[in-house]
Amino acid sequence: MDCSVCTSMPAQLRPPRNTICGACYEGARSLISFINKLEAAQGIDKANLCKNLMNVSTWVVDMKESSEELDEKIKFVSGFVVAFRDQIHTDIQLRSGENRPSIPAHRALLAIRSEIFSNMLDSDGCKAPPSDDTITLPELNHEELECFLELLYSGDLAEERMSKHVYSLSLAADKYGVSFLQKLCERHMLKSLSSSNALDVLEVADTCSFLLLKENALNYIVKNMNEIVFSAKYDTFALKNPHLSVQITRASLMDARRNCVG
Ligand SMILES: [Zn+2]
Repeated sequence: MDCSVCTSMPAQLRPPRNTICGACYEGARSLISFINKLEAAQGIDKANLCKNLMNVSTWVVDMKESSEELDEKIKFVSGFVVAFRDQIHTDIQLRSGENRPSIPAHRALLAIRSEIFSNMLDSDGCKAPPSDDTITLPELNHEELECFLELLYSGDLAEERMSKHVYSLSLAADKYGVSFLQKLCERHMLKSLSSSNALDVLEVADTCSFLLLKENALNYIVKNMNEIVFSAKYDTFALKNPHLSVQITRASLMDARRNCVG
């Protein structure tokens, strides 16, 4: 069929050019309903929802413009990361659990990003402010601390470093109450769930109360029981996390029961 939308030679089609192929029809319908779902979630008035592809085109152009504006805004507000990298006007030192040189940072940024840091730095708070201008994060090694700070300053970290340190960063985000970082780590672990990391992910998700991630990790382990539970890693895991081993056993029995009934 000569589709009036996706044909390579539209000039050859005779008016009224009103034929449309299945793919274009389905694509147009799902695009319109997807946009309207987004708009409805934002409380947009029904009268202003997308009705045709012309509306869709306007919507896409608007989105492109607002995404460019957002990019500019991000560039503007992320100037702080330059102050961190070039150590401009730093006024606090952060030390890891390793015996390595401390890293200069900014009190104001730490206080904005984390209420825990804010309390530590607040001289009116119940805790005395750090006397020698140094805060120690004993649970992180030096490289992890560098990543943690880069995330606090820029909200971003290279994929490779994120994969390497995601567990310790999750625990730090949990301890210092940085909810943006918690979400970032949770999403990263959800995306990279595999047989080799499912037990680690379950442990971290349980400690940090990432409920969705914990449920996903548990289901993943149940579905890949043979590969995971008979691995040497499981011995160490079970000794360290008896309560999670019980949950794995129960979840797998429930799954087996469901499969019997089904
Ligand atoms: Zn088509």
